[in-house]
Amino acid sequence: MKEWLKHWDETKRLTREEAIKILNLPKEDMDDLIACAYALRTKYKGKKVSVQLLTNVRSGNCSQNCAYCAQSCESHAAIEKYRRVSDEKLYGDNDLVDDKHLARHCIGLSGIQFSDAEIEDLAERIREMKKKGTQICCSIGFLTEKQARLLKDAGLDRINHNLNSSRRFYPEICTTHTYEQRVANIHMLQDIGFEICSGGIIGMGERKEDVVDMLLDLREIHPESVPINFLLPIPGTRLADRDISGLTPEYCMKVLCLARLMIPTSDIRCAAGREVYFKGIEPTLFKVVDSIFASGYLTADGQGIDATMQMIRDAGFDGEIESTDEE
Ligand code: SF4
Repeated sequence: MKEWLKHWDETKRLTREEAIKILNLPKEDMDDLIACAYALRTKYKGKKVSVQLLTNVRSGNCSQNCAYCAQSCESHAAIEKYRRVSDEKLYGDNDLVDDKHLARHCIGLSGIQFSDAEIEDLAERIREMKKKGTQICCSIGFLTEKQARLLKDAGLDRINHNLNSSRRFYPEICTTHTYEQRVANIHMLQDIGFEICSGGIIGMGERKEDVVDMLLDLREIHPESVPINFLLPIPGTRLADRDISGLTPEYCMKVLCLARLMIPTSDIRCAAGREVYFKGIEPTLFKVVDSIFASGYLTADGQGIDATMQMIRDAGFDGEIESTDEE
């Protein structure tokens, strides 16, 4: 394995068995694995770290039963619930993305289906934010083709729709919609011309094979961005007491390295769980990933923007200065 990593040939597509071997690598091979991921990261992303800001536009009261989610219909988590965040907050966050030169403004809406009037309402706000040229990604449930086109016409750049886990494991975490619906939704959005952000959550009780199978499907989808979340069990959700002792920094790093090896040209984002599972080892983390969130993930707090940018500089990398259409 060591020699294989040293002479990595990225034109060779990893097989399922090889990918599983990577998640089972012994500790002594970690340096070689990270070096391999770092070479790809540098080749395709340089030293750049894209920082995204997330605004929760709609919170809570979702009809779906995703086991990890504080906003699900089964959750008793003490979260703020609202149908639409104030314009002051939404546009204020968008100004922050602009002022701090962050890569992208991500906006999330709880729920799975939306009326045309709700989508038009959202489109109006996207049009307003796009006046500044901000790159915008929207995390939203299942859109009709008509609704997706409406948002595309409003200037929305990217849509986040995660696979979350493998096809096999998906019914364990959600029974109100299917994995197949998610894949079909992503393909519809790609056909319309959206950039795609799609990844998953690690630590929900899945096997290593499930992580690999999810990444194999993501390799086929080839999203522009692949967010990998590490479970933060939220009190009041079905996964509140999930044993996360397997989420060691070493295992989490292996998952991110595998994502980089399998989908090297995409942005690989260490999303939820970064501050918990990678605390103090950010310089190593940035050798593998080129994208993170600043300042909070929906219902869990994150670091502030300035602290995040400083942490990137301290690690020897550059916070991305982009987020305008004029570039
Ligand atoms: S569909 Fe989205 S908001 Fe609703 S429960 Fe699932 S993850 Fe949470």
